[in-house]
Amino acid sequence: MCPLLGVAAGGTAVRRAGSALVGGGNSAGQAAVYLSSQVAKVRLIVRGPGLEANMSRYLVERITARPNVEILTETTVTALEGQDGLLEAIRCHSHRSGEEKKFAIRHLFLFIGADPNTEWLSRSGVMLDDKGFVRAGANIHRPLETNLPGVFTIGDVRSGSVKRVAAAVGEGAQVVAELHAFLAELGDRARLPANTRRH
Ligand SMILES: Cc1cc2nc3c(=O)[nH]c(=O)nc-3n(C[C@H](O)[C@H](O)[C@H](O)COP(=O)(O)OP(=O)(O)OC[C@H]3O[C@@H](n4cnc5c(N)ncnc54)[C@H](O)[C@@H]3O)c2cc1C
Repeated sequence: MCPLLGVAAGGTAVRRAGSALVGGGNSAGQAAVYLSSQVAKVRLIVRGPGLEANMSRYLVERITARPNVEILTETTVTALEGQDGLLEAIRCHSHRSGEEKKFAIRHLFLFIGADPNTEWLSRSGVMLDDKGFVRAGANIHRPLETNLPGVFTIGDVRSGSVKRVAAAVGEGAQVVAELHAFLAELGDRARLPANTRRH
């Protein structure tokens, strides 16, 4: 279940409890806008000096217009406190002032990036980048093909992809043409007499 829906469905007690989000990108921005319509107060904890570097302008404007969103920049979460598996407070460190602050928080949401689930590929011979995303582009004619002929990569897991739904869907459509081209080439090679085949 989406954690944000959990908050929305939690009733008045949950709505009054403190909520915080960690992150300074668009996902954190969208969540902050949504959450601020559901709960009394949202703290947005951002490691960098501001929102502008990684967040779309329209989201920055919407967030700064919400009186119940407090933006804490140059700040990191240093500790979580609670009992019986329930969060009660978070401690934060301001890198600007050096100050340590404690906030009563019941719900903490993290929007600090994603790790590709590609460990299982590490011994396959498919090339990954230093963060584990799958490299494509080994064949200039089939840009979504990996270094292994006939193995393709699309969407978020592809190294250097845009990480957007429309881009992933577009690559899904594009890869079909590349697969056809690959299979056609394979068929041509299979039809060539053995002594004229190029490997
Ligand atoms: C919080 C959040 C907000 C976002 N907001 C937006 C937005 O507003 N607009 C936008 O355009 N994009 C947004 N995105 C990005 C968007 O979700 C992705 O770009 C898009 O989902 C990528 O599609 P995909 O198919 O490549 O990957 P995914 O949607 O991640 O799908 C990958 C699938 O593969 C499955 N999988 C993983 N490993 C294996 C395995 N070993 N075997 C089988 N299956 C496996 C996963 O479970 C998953 O179902 C957002 C992302 C997040 C996290």
